[in-house]
Amino acid sequence: MLLGPPGAGKGTQAQIIAGRMSVPAISTGDIFRANVTGQTELGRQAKAYMDSGDLVPDEITVAMVTDRLAEPDAKAGFLLDGFPRTISQAEQLRDSLTELGHVLDRCLELVVDEDELVRRLSGRRMLVDGAWVQRDDDKPETVRHRLEVYREQTSPLSGFYRQAGLLSQIDAIGEIDEVTDRALTALGFPDDGPAGAPAAS
Ligand code: AMP
Repeated sequence: MLLGPPGAGKGTQAQIIAGRMSVPAISTGDIFRANVTGQTELGRQAKAYMDSGDLVPDEITVAMVTDRLAEPDAKAGFLLDGFPRTISQAEQLRDSLTELGHVLDRCLELVVDEDELVRRLSGRRMLVDGAWVQRDDDKPETVRHRLEVYREQTSPLSGFYRQAGLLSQIDAIGEIDEVTDRALTALGFPDDGPAGAPAAS
């Protein structure tokens, strides 16, 4: 799983790393956004929290992830991006993984200082239907709140996974390729090895 504040590059790195490992990248933020766009009941429940930069309540989020992890493409492994984000979610993930017969291999934390995060998030745009748009939750006031939420509710996960002996941390400032190289090295994958190839021991 990838841990890191908003703007650390989790989404970008998750896509690349999951591709190298031939497993699906499961992003709770992406699943919520797809549900908001599709105007589903889940999207309706999540939208107000997302717009204000707060976390969607654990019971909604955990139920959604548990369903996703039970899908066939996740049988051989997966990379989590943006989940867990609270200690309670991490504890429930541990239980769900046990039930599904999986073990969490590693928590990779992307470390970026706060000035850089604010700079990245306020300049970030997404391409939607051919037009560059700013995510509602990337507006400056919401960005500050999301960073506070991260500090208070999510950053304790670093200690949680360190204690479990599962934490690796990398400097996530630099070119995308450089960060990917650091990530793959920390995860024990060769830089240019074939997709899905385990690291030589
Ligand atoms: P992200 O794209 O990961 O930055 O997530 C966007 C928003 O979705 C967050 O600000 C939260 O409102 C919501 N969200 C995503 N993942 C979680 C999670 N694990 N727990 C609670 N809310 C989440």
